[in-house]
Amino acid sequence: MAATKPQATAPVKAPAKGKPAPVPYRGPPLLGPYPAFPGMAPAQFTKMTELCGPRWVDLLFHLPRSVLDRSAAPTIATAPVGERATMLLKVIKRPSVFGSLRRGGKKIPLVIELADDSGSLRAIYFNVGGWLERAYPQGGTVVVSGKVEEDSKGKKLIHPDVWTAGKLPEDAQLKAVAKVWPLYPLTAGLPQGWVNRAVQHALAFASEHPPPEWLPAALLARLKLPAFTEALQAAHNPENEADIVPTTPARMRLALDEFLATQLALQHARATTRFQPGIAHGQSQAQTDKLLASLPFALTGDQQQALDDIATDLATPRPMLRLLQGDVGAGKTLVALAALCRVMENGQQGVLMAPTEILARQLYANAVRYLQPLGFTVGLLVGSLPAAQKKKLKQHVRDGFVNLLVGTHALVQDDVTFDRLGLAVIDEQHRFGVRQRMALSANQSLPPDLLLMTATPIPRTLALTAYGDMDVSVLREKPPGRTPIQTVAIPDARLNEVARGLERVIAQGQQVYWVCPLVDESEDTDLAAATARAAWLAKVYGDKVGVLHGKMKAAEKDAVMARFQAGELAILVSTTVIEVGVDVPNATLMVIEHAERFGLSQLHQLRGRVGRGAAKSQCVLLYSPPLTPFAEQRLDALRQSDDGFELAEKDLELRGPGEVLGTRQSGQIATRLADLHHHRELLPLARDAAQALLASNLSPQQRGALTLLLQMFDQTAAAAFLRGG
Ligand code: ADP
Ligand code: MG
Repeated sequence: MAATKPQATAPVKAPAKGKPAPVPYRGPPLLGPYPAFPGMAPAQFTKMTELCGPRWVDLLFHLPRSVLDRSAAPTIATAPVGERATMLLKVIKRPSVFGSLRRGGKKIPLVIELADDSGSLRAIYFNVGGWLERAYPQGGTVVVSGKVEEDSKGKKLIHPDVWTAGKLPEDAQLKAVAKVWPLYPLTAGLPQGWVNRAVQHALAFASEHPPPEWLPAALLARLKLPAFTEALQAAHNPENEADIVPTTPARMRLALDEFLATQLALQHARATTRFQPGIAHGQSQAQTDKLLASLPFALTGDQQQALDDIATDLATPRPMLRLLQGDVGAGKTLVALAALCRVMENGQQGVLMAPTEILARQLYANAVRYLQPLGFTVGLLVGSLPAAQKKKLKQHVRDGFVNLLVGTHALVQDDVTFDRLGLAVIDEQHRFGVRQRMALSANQSLPPDLLLMTATPIPRTLALTAYGDMDVSVLREKPPGRTPIQTVAIPDARLNEVARGLERVIAQGQQVYWVCPLVDESEDTDLAAATARAAWLAKVYGDKVGVLHGKMKAAEKDAVMARFQAGELAILVSTTVIEVGVDVPNATLMVIEHAERFGLSQLHQLRGRVGRGAAKSQCVLLYSPPLTPFAEQRLDALRQSDDGFELAEKDLELRGPGEVLGTRQSGQIATRLADLHHHRELLPLARDAAQALLASNLSPQQRGALTLLLQMFDQTAAAAFLRGG
């Protein structure tokens, strides 16, 4: 099909000359590099490889995000104003000079007159590129597509897309354009037409080089899924909106492929990890006992159980991979500190990583408070630390002088090496990518035990499948003495009333969090909303209002946080950066604007910032009606339940397509083709298939097919293993 498609018009430059001939590629065809397509400028080629990746398969994995219906093909006379039309027209009149023209300092638009048997119209361009001259040959025919507008001079198209007539018969030209088109994610300077054309080339290439099937035949038949190449054809040639939703057989097939690759890699990695000497039961634990005895409270049963689980893991030579799930305020920090203590008193070092500097400092303060009295040395490594101090600290860590190092991403960015790292703890682990998690244990002489902590419960199936056979400990029981939070949903028409209500809270000496609308998950717009709201509230509450957002420097954030913690600020307006575990027990009111745009887990996380002290707390969900049925159910669920686990399961259920912003917390696994919400039933299938495949006696063909699959998804370590047998 690709060959018959009319050429998308784009600037044409001569290909670069005088470059040495590249070494011919001899690997599997789909993994090979694609060339710059004829007529493509080198800069555009670079952009395309950056956007999609350099291999044929990368182009194929660049899936359309939406569709553009260009199928309406009326004549000029019958084309309805205000609607999109695609027409085959003759170029009647075009200016003699192309290029940007100016009259009196003002740019004047380029106007080209086009006609068919029924009448004429104007194509108008404001930013004129030289390519237009080639796109509209005098007296030639072109296919144009755009929204029809009308003024006193008749019908016009502003910046229509244009296809210059090739050698095709006229009706074939129109037919090739007047259809439903896939629309791809783009990058600045790379037009839709190019991506479209490149993908069509890749599809033709894939048909010529179909890969062997790697999915078990029985599974394919049971799920009624198409072959890989067929799935790609369907995914890239949608006939309507319904063809690009995640639940089409084509997209399901591709998602399953990705899950299978991940599962093979995870299971392989787990099966081949190196062992380390364990810390045997009964080995020194005097310090840990002392730590626990010094607490002003008793551990909850769940905390005790989690510590027992961890002690067992530490005792085995196989490195621990355990997730500690506990709702906000469930007391995960103490479990981590006790586990670290146990490792340290047996002569090993610990590391504790948090996603933000605020949180790292909070953990550091706790570590100093509980562990320093026992004689351990605790260090803090954050990005803002002066270089000289950083260097000295890292030296102390390498020498084994620092027993516990607490920090942020700086820990992995600055490749810290330890003398003897025994346990790595990652708090709010869902904020880190898999690579960062891995990096923390890479480069160490022995693989450390790994404890991941999260307050955003991961539904069990996701937890098991996303991490292979990771072990899970759960803190369900909350420490005693917490007062439940009252949650109300209020339409945003009553915003003023809510703002006035802060007065009462402040008069009682308590504090307020005010979380601003999630606008589009871009920190810029979210920030604008937060600063505007803070200014508005400051009209009444003056300098008692502070604002916190992600664009602030770490030191500025800390300063604001410190003032809020000290009670100098009564109201803290913020973007969702506040979400992560900040602890201010005196804050009793949480206001969340546009609550309908948030996911349930995130709302629950935000709500967990209050209700940390003895005083009664409230959470106000401001929403903008009308609510979608999903959004209504989400807000209801939140009012009725305080159980983060229940809410996490619901969170996955109650999502309309593309409805909820801020879904990063369910993005614990970075996926390329799969959608964790819509494709989650495929995960256990992929896990079981991977298990069965790795346990079976693979034929050389199967081995080759699976190796190719792993390479496609960049699972190089597992691929090398499979290929090597
Ligand atoms: P999270 O799980 O959200 O990280 P934290 O570890 O910050 O929770 O604990 C919240 C608060 O509860 C802390 O002030 C901590 O000292 C306290 N806490 C932890 N365990 C217990 C317990 N067993 N009994 C009473 N309070 C506890
Ligand atoms: Mg915490």
